[in-house]
Formats: sequence, C-alpha cells, structure tokens
Amino acid sequence: MPQQSWIELDDQYIWHPYSARHSPSPIYPIVKAKGVTLTLADGRELIDGMASWWCAIHGYQHPTLNQALISQVTQFSHIMFGGLTHEPACLLAEKLISITPQPLQHVFFVDSGSVAVEAAMKMAIQYWFAQQQPQKQRFITVRGGYHGDTLGAMSVCDPYTGMHRLFNQILASQIFVDPLQSVFTDQDVDIDIQNMRETLIQHHKSVSAVIIEPIVQGAGGMRFYSSEYLRQLRLLCDEFNVLLIFDEIATGFGRTGKLFAMEYPAVCPDICCLGKSLTGGYLTLAATLTTDDIANTISENQPHTFMHGPTFMANPLACATALASIDLLFANDWQNQVQQIEKGLKALFICNTLDIVKEVRVLGAIGVVELKQPVELAQIQDLFVQQGVWIRPFGCLVYIMPPYIIQPKELNILIEAIYRVLDEMTLSK
Ligand code: PLP
Repeated sequence: MPQQSWIELDDQYIWHPYSARHSPSPIYPIVKAKGVTLTLADGRELIDGMASWWCAIHGYQHPTLNQALISQVTQFSHIMFGGLTHEPACLLAEKLISITPQPLQHVFFVDSGSVAVEAAMKMAIQYWFAQQQPQKQRFITVRGGYHGDTLGAMSVCDPYTGMHRLFNQILASQIFVDPLQSVFTDQDVDIDIQNMRETLIQHHKSVSAVIIEPIVQGAGGMRFYSSEYLRQLRLLCDEFNVLLIFDEIATGFGRTGKLFAMEYPAVCPDICCLGKSLTGGYLTLAATLTTDDIANTISENQPHTFMHGPTFMANPLACATALASIDLLFANDWQNQVQQIEKGLKALFICNTLDIVKEVRVLGAIGVVELKQPVELAQIQDLFVQQGVWIRPFGCLVYIMPPYIIQPKELNILIEAIYRVLDEMTLSK
C-alpha cells in the first residue's frame, strides 16, 4: 500500500495513547527502527531518547532478540497456559527468581504492566482473605505514583494526575499519603515516615498492602526518593501487618543503575511487579512475583485458587524473547552501559541555566528536566523532531531514558537538542 494511504488510515480510524481523536499534536509515521534510530516515512532519522517508554533497552532489531523470536515462532507461537506449560516460561521463571531477592520464589505471568499490578493487588487481598481477614481490601500508596490504566491500577495512581474525578463512582477508594519530601540522597526521612505511620495507625485493619514504585516515581512525576524511606517503610509494614508491593515495572532491569531499584535499600517486598523492558521492548509481557508464604497461604486456603488467568498468559514468543533479553543484558555488561549513560546525562545540568527550568535530575539511565510550566506538547514535539531526536515530554517534564546501547555521540545529540529547544522556548517567553 502506498505510504500516504496507510498514514491517512491512522487519521481516519486510530486513537493514540492519551489523546483526542484529532489531536493537535502530530503523529509521526515510522517505517524502520534499528539500533537507537527511528526512521520516519519521509526518510528523516531520529535518535530515540525514550526507548519506547522504558522498554527497548537493547535498541531496535537486535540480532539476538530477533533470533530468539524466530526460533520460538518455528516451534509454536502460543498455547493456552491453563493445564499446559512450555520451556520458555519455565526457564524465564527460573531466571527471574535467580536475579531477584531470595524471598521472591513464585512467578505469575501476565500480559501488561497494568495487569501485573491488578494481579498483585488481588494476591494481597486473597492472602488476607485466606487468613480470615476479608476486611483487608484497601491499599495505601504515596501521592505522585503511577501504576497503570486499568481500574484497580488506576485506583492507586495519583488521584489528581490519574484523573480520579472522572471515574469516582467506579474506582475503589484507596488511601493516599502526602507526596514524599525526601530526595534520593536524603537520609532524614522522618516527615515522610511519620505521615505513613499515622496513616497505618488509622487504617491498617482495613489495608491489605502498601504499593509503591521503589526509588523512582515514574509517570506520576519522575521523582527520585530516598532508599532510607523504603527501609523504614518495610519495617512499618511488618509492624502493622500489611504487605508491601513494589512496582518495578519501569525501574527494573538496570534502568536506575541497579538491576532492580529495590537493591538501593536492600529491601525485599512481599509482591513485586515487573514488565516494560522484560522482553527488551519486543512483546508485551509482565510478571508478578511473590513469596512462599503468600503463594502457599492462597493455595492452601479457600478458594484454593488464585483468581486470575489471562488468555495470553506466559506467551511463548514473549517468554523466549525475555529470556534472551535478560541474558543479553548480562552479556552486554549493563552496569557499565548504564554508568556511562549516567555520566553522559550529567551534561543535562547545563539546562539549570535556563529561566524556564525548575530542576534537573539524573539517576542511572534516566535524565529529567523539570520545567516551571507545563509544555505545549504539539509545539515542543515538533521542535524535537526538527532537531532529529525522539523525545516526548509530558506536563512539566522533559525526560529521556535511552536504550542502553546508545553511544556517547548520540547521547550528546539528545542532550544538545534538549538544551537548544528549551533555550528557544526561554527566548520566546
Ligand atoms: N507501573 C508503572 C511504574 C509504570 O510506569 C507503568 C507504565 O508506564 C505501568 C505500571 C503500566 O504498565 P503498562 O502500560 O504495561 O500497562
């Protein structure tokens, strides 16, 4: 089909994420993605600063991942997971258990991050139900979080940026603690912990778990907070008989400089959600990991069944690719790759000289420039494309988390583009 025709079909039929049907923000057609480069239909090339929303850690079309996918597709692409199993799922489960903290011993595969969060929330509720505490069905979380777009996951997203007002008749009513004040380097977390303690004192009898993104609150504000907070949060959850769920969907697989962000505080949750870069950005797959205690308690008590089972659970193509992606991560010396990116990202601090900038933050392979005012997406998006980069800001945040294979020269192009575009915006104010 001629290019122009399929591009028109997009406009006619398709609804893109977080957009209106005829969004003022342009939609760019892609005809090729390789390494860290996206090629537009008109031939222009863009260096990718987004890794397709945290996923494409090895870049696009990596030969190892391509091969894993091709090998599996010649065996079988999918089989139902009820009553059947397959090698890619078994090996991937073993791998995930071997690279996460020892108390996590069981894996429940799902098909997206939001559903991993739904499964985690249901696990927590079923755990208490199995112990004759069916009243423990609510969740505590910290403001500024993001956990996905399905109704359960949305109920624990920040109530304002998550637009709870629109869905208030249907969303479960959860308990929100004030936004964290502590930053990544802080040891003093007394105020944040005091807020959580007071909330637990008041609500713990009806609460099944605290759910939180460890170290980095992603789509809810791109904030980096203190490890010490998580250490003390773990103790509080134990003291008040409430489970702890970590949502590592964005932070997992090296992005923050540790393989998992929970390694900063050296704290293990009772339930942990993984997703996004699990398959190196090839296919949609996520996983909810839990402990012997939780898996056994749910299984040995009424209704003796964990009540979840998606059709595409443990898709073999996705599992085979995920396995290859994790092996590749270690073969590529991800720690060195992320350290080099972190070093390069420090050049972003030059943006602190611009009037429109509130703060610059860097952690691992994440670089964030927070502005004083929200951006005009349509305008800034086009400016970035003109600079030959793919960067998609939201709200007050211009941020990048490139594929780990990015070279220093390409990273500099991303950083210079950010500076130039923000400088232009400063001058036009
Ligand atoms: N949890 C976190 C921390 C996320 O960043 C996201 C997505 O951005 C999700 C959950 C939801 O994942 P998905 O979009 O795969 O449903």
